[in-house]
Amino acid sequence: MDFNDTPEEATFRAEARAWLAANAPAHVLPEGERLEDFDEMARGRAWQRALYDGGYAGITLPRALGGRGGTIIEAVVFAEEEGRYRLPKGPYISIGLGMALTVIGKHGTPEQIARFCEATLKGEITWCQLFSEPSAGSDLANLRTKAVPDGDHWVVNGQKVWSSWAHLAEWGIMVVRTDPTVPKHKGLTFFVVNMKSPGVEVRPIRQISGASDFNETFLTDVRVPDSDRIGEVGGGWGCCMTVLMSERIGSGSERESIAEMIDYARHTPRGAGAATALDSSAVRLAMAQALAEERGEKYLQARLRTMISRGEDPGALASMIKLAYAGRNQKSLGLGMELRGLDALAASGEAEATQKLQYEYIWSTVMRIAGGADEVLRNQIAERVLGMPGDIRTDKNVPFDQL
Ligand SMILES: Cc1cc2nc3c(=O)[nH]c(=O)nc-3n(C[C@H](O)[C@H](O)[C@H](O)COP(=O)(O)OP(=O)(O)OC[C@H]3O[C@@H](n4cnc5c(N)ncnc54)[C@H](O)[C@@H]3O)c2cc1C
Repeated sequence: MDFNDTPEEATFRAEARAWLAANAPAHVLPEGERLEDFDEMARGRAWQRALYDGGYAGITLPRALGGRGGTIIEAVVFAEEEGRYRLPKGPYISIGLGMALTVIGKHGTPEQIARFCEATLKGEITWCQLFSEPSAGSDLANLRTKAVPDGDHWVVNGQKVWSSWAHLAEWGIMVVRTDPTVPKHKGLTFFVVNMKSPGVEVRPIRQISGASDFNETFLTDVRVPDSDRIGEVGGGWGCCMTVLMSERIGSGSERESIAEMIDYARHTPRGAGAATALDSSAVRLAMAQALAEERGEKYLQARLRTMISRGEDPGALASMIKLAYAGRNQKSLGLGMELRGLDALAASGEAEATQKLQYEYIWSTVMRIAGGADEVLRNQIAERVLGMPGDIRTDKNVPFDQL
């Protein structure tokens, strides 16, 4: 396998780099300052609009959907180049591009595609994901929010939780139960819901950090037109799988951070008898291990992209990569914290790099839960890759209303 750019990829990279040099600096987020959610999102929308105008929004999306119609490798090249800048690209953008457009593009009607794709690519519509509920997380198919038909509408009642950025989203992708008389995976239907509809109430969840990225979303007699149903009635689980697969494929980062950490260790005086931290054999060993793991993950990603570009189903490989990334990321950020010693715990306002590391280290924990918890992904790998006996599922063929 050759990891160098082909001549065409090198040309694309040069074009992308030049375009970014001319356009990205005006959109870079200020260092060391946490913006209000609304301000950050406004910047995210503006950058998304600039990407659209430059022809770089939705690189792999077909032109018919408003995308560039490019290859997955071009998307990776662009992400690598874009990753050199600190740009506003939070969940308020990625839920729309990575989840909503993916599911609408695959399961939606031509009218739905026309309504939502271009506006999302331009950053005019932002999205949230209304999947999890108080009793449905890892076991998503256990969800209880229900929709009953009423003429050409559905009436939705229930509660969602952990809805990231729902407080500012215009639309949500939502899965609900439409038939409780069949086994749990079969009675689900997928919708898009206008978050400004009467009966949608979004309550922020205050986090220990003081931020409030998540919400509880209460749905009381919300009327959703049948024209906002995505896919077949009862076909909601297939739509969820499309979203979750896309979420897992999208986890990971193009940024290679271990090289930065090695550089830091090379310039940091540490301990008696060792000129710098990197002179310590224990530090060198830990760095070598972290670098090997980062490279290994990169090559797994390359294998995944090759499969996708050949039209193959990556299946459990997406789960393997998500699992590998989440654990490795947390471990290597922890190594960065250890290298900084006590400074890592008491960084002042001037130590911006350390403050950023602290934030990333704390945040790395959540990646072991979001998009599929470690244990659940391990179960999938055990069953689908290693052929081990399945988890005990006593509810598999039982109608939901008899559980
Ligand atoms: C940062 C972040 C953002 C999120 N954003 C959204 C969002 O926008 N929209 C949304 O709908 N949801 C969102 N979620 C929710 C996320 O999808 C759920 O947290 C996740 O599915 C896990 O569900 P749970 O929290 O209910 O935990 P549970 O499912 O209750 O799991 C608790 C523990 O039990 C373990 N466990 C569960 N089942 C098994 C099993 N069969 N075998 C072994 N162990 C098991 C889990 O691994 C975990 O350690 C977000 C979560 C995070 C962390």
